[in-house]
Amino acid sequence: MILEPVSLTLEPADAEPIDVVVVGAGQGGLSAAYHLHRRGFVPAGTDRDGPVSGTFIVLDQDPEPGGAWRHRWDSLRMGTVNGIHELPGLPVPTAGDDERANAVLPAYFAEYERRFDIRVRRPVSARSVARVTGEDGPGLAVATTAGTYLASYVVNATGTWTRPHWPYYPGMERFRGQQVHVHDYRRAEDFAGQRVVVVGAGVSAVQLLDEISRVTDTFWVTRREPQWVRSEFDIPARVAAIQGVADRVARGLPAGSVVSITGMLWSAAAQAAQDRGVLVRHPMFRRLEENGLRMPDGSFEPADVILWATGFRPALDHLAPLRLRTHSGGIRVVDSRSVDEPRLFLVGYGPTQSTVGANRAGRLIAATVAGELRRGVRQRPHGGEQERPNVRVLSAR
Ligand SMILES: Cc1cc2nc3c(=O)[nH]c(=O)nc-3n(C[C@H](O)[C@H](O)[C@H](O)COP(=O)(O)OP(=O)(O)OC[C@H]3O[C@@H](n4cnc5c(N)ncnc54)[C@H](O)[C@@H]3O)c2cc1C
Repeated sequence: MILEPVSLTLEPADAEPIDVVVVGAGQGGLSAAYHLHRRGFVPAGTDRDGPVSGTFIVLDQDPEPGGAWRHRWDSLRMGTVNGIHELPGLPVPTAGDDERANAVLPAYFAEYERRFDIRVRRPVSARSVARVTGEDGPGLAVATTAGTYLASYVVNATGTWTRPHWPYYPGMERFRGQQVHVHDYRRAEDFAGQRVVVVGAGVSAVQLLDEISRVTDTFWVTRREPQWVRSEFDIPARVAAIQGVADRVARGLPAGSVVSITGMLWSAAAQAAQDRGVLVRHPMFRRLEENGLRMPDGSFEPADVILWATGFRPALDHLAPLRLRTHSGGIRVVDSRSVDEPRLFLVGYGPTQSTVGANRAGRLIAATVAGELRRGVRQRPHGGEQERPNVRVLSAR
């Protein structure tokens, strides 16, 4: 069941019209911007001879290009990432396996923004997105640290990096050692001489277990036995996995990870950890105590550090005024579009939460928006089309 939407009335202001506000300049946001550009949209505030399809802006809260990649730990190398799908129109530069992903990919994103003249406004953080009624008709107001924009469409591409997921376990507050989420992990050497418990069954957990166990003692716990997949997924298996996630988000269920559906691909890190005898999975502990873990069989395991490799959640808090959350905790999304607020698109959510998925979503969204603007229609909450509003920036930097 969906709660009633919030609607505000804003004072109109004379300013340039904005058709599409893209929030986030990671893989998803840049891909959407590229396809908008290709379909004849121009960055708001620029002059162009000839007809244009509309205007757009891209906002990002980080001071520099790179999306989440610029924040990832130094030991994540180009040889150990899962495979980066290129941004549309520009190949990923050739890089050695040993080069840092948090250097190569931000440089690539920066070059991309230059090459395609994507004028990202940064650092600008979106604080809230709400339905508004202005002099020119309804729209979506994007309140940011640099003013409020009123737009016909919002493309939300804010990723997950800013929302690390910490599950709660009894005794977390009593534990005297250090608790770190993967979000804040820097390097294995920081834990030298300490006993590190790695929690989680995903790609990061296994990579970091391999890495940390080279310098210190580790203990690996997961809620469920990992389901290893020994060979590359074939295409039908991949399509089925992504369709499974798409079906979930269409019903408003939390997206879940593709890995939870496909199982974990047996990686070089898994092999290396197994070869050194450290890929030994234990069941999740019952509780944390001052100096370690109480296991389900009552035994005690000493611990100095708990590394929570327990994933991330979509960074969607700023969408709260739209009240799109279902009772199951998700947002109903079909083909990257919110079912309950069709002026909102989500890239990097559910089935598009990968570099390849983000690219596809960007193309689809640009085509859809261009088509609707060309036909002179606008979307209303809960579906239905009406004549397009004139949209304006109410105030901006
Ligand atoms: C540890 C880890 C490793 C991964 N490795 C791979 C891999 O090897 N291959 C792969 O395909 N995928 C990988 N992924 C998935 C990966 O996150 C995506 O493929 C891709 O980086 C997501 O791009 P995005 O544009 O959705 O998000 P991001 O790259 O996170 O970009 C989101 C952008 O939005 C901005 N932003 C956030 N909130 C706001 C706001 N309120 N206002 C303004 N701006 C905001 C952020 O500053 C950021 O620049 C990995 C994920 C994690 C967590």
